[in-house]
Amino acid sequence: AEKLATRVTSIRVSPSTAAAQKVRDLKAEGREILNLTVGEPDFDTPHAIKTAGVKAIAEGDTKYTPVNGTIALRKAIQHDFKTRLDIDCDLDRICVGGGAKQILFVAMMATVEAGTEVIVPAPYWVSYPDMVVANGGTPVIVHCDESSRFKLTPEALEAAITPRTRWVILNSPSNPTGAAYTAEELRALGEVIKRHRDVLVMCDEIYDRIWFADFPAQSIVSGMPELADQALVVNGVSKSYAMTGWRIGYAVGPKFLIDAINKLQSQMSSCPSSISQAAAAAALTGPQDSVEETVTVYRARRDRAHELINAIPGLSCLLPDGAFYLYPNCAGVIGKKTPAGKTIETDLDFSLYLLEEAGVASVHGGAYGLEPYFRISTATSMEIIEAACAKIADAVAKLS
Ligand code: PLP
Repeated sequence: AEKLATRVTSIRVSPSTAAAQKVRDLKAEGREILNLTVGEPDFDTPHAIKTAGVKAIAEGDTKYTPVNGTIALRKAIQHDFKTRLDIDCDLDRICVGGGAKQILFVAMMATVEAGTEVIVPAPYWVSYPDMVVANGGTPVIVHCDESSRFKLTPEALEAAITPRTRWVILNSPSNPTGAAYTAEELRALGEVIKRHRDVLVMCDEIYDRIWFADFPAQSIVSGMPELADQALVVNGVSKSYAMTGWRIGYAVGPKFLIDAINKLQSQMSSCPSSISQAAAAAALTGPQDSVEETVTVYRARRDRAHELINAIPGLSCLLPDGAFYLYPNCAGVIGKKTPAGKTIETDLDFSLYLLEEAGVASVHGGAYGLEPYFRISTATSMEIIEAACAKIADAVAKLS
């Protein structure tokens, strides 16, 4: 009676969700846990954006909208793509959905089936491979070295492409590493993609306003408009405007693909929430000071966490270009023994040791497809970051 479809049995529950649950369980047992697993801003949604949502409710903006989003929101998205990223697009090449996650999933649903390959550079956001598998396709994981700042090189991309490749996924800035692609790197990847007309590129730029690098945020189509018919550029309001619960994400892409996403969404959800769309339009068109303020805070936390982690013997970490994560290398502690006599064999062992010994929750690198690393989030206060790094340092010092 409980038989489920393969698309469910073949995928995992998100490891970040599982880590968050473990933290809740330990807290429920009365343990004090410093939580560095958080995947959402620790700020509140800015007041003006909330007010736009409240106004939408008061004014009866509470009905179905067009499946691809309201004109007001799509115009705001169009303007944002043009002014920030120099991407030109008509309103019918924009779609809106219940979060970037939903857009990414539905885009795969529209294009992936048995035999389809999707190139996923590792370390990757945990959901990509499962989204491919849930739609019957095959994720092709390409490991990207720390020496290339965990970024996909044109050579590695070319080598991974086969006649079955439908997508390559680029996430910039990256969750979990924070690394972002420069215009030159995007151009070099774009040249490869251009040579393979059946390959599409999924650019997940959800963190591109949380930006610290001294080069500007760019999309692959910014410098190569000729790639517009091969690129789906995905973004949303969740991370930049602290709006994770409002569930609005969007994308610009080739018309055939946007039409297909809309067709599927018309049967799945009819449209995203009208209230959230009004709030998202206000976020994109209103003053951007809240984004600037939060980026200043995230930057200070990134700098401090980077400094503290690099001061711990056995750990090292690159300086992120954006987003709110760090991805320290823990090769220097692998093979060491805990005070209880257990050998740290993997980054999962290390992450569990940090949780048990130091009361610090992180996510092990294996969850992102590249070991031995662990991810820490800076979407938490400076006090917690400093206290957690001190506890990590103590715990590492106890290893022999
Ligand atoms: N893409 C990446 C890389 C993310 O880290 C996340 C959220 O964790 C998302 C997409 C999903 O964002 P949304 O809240 O818009 O669905």
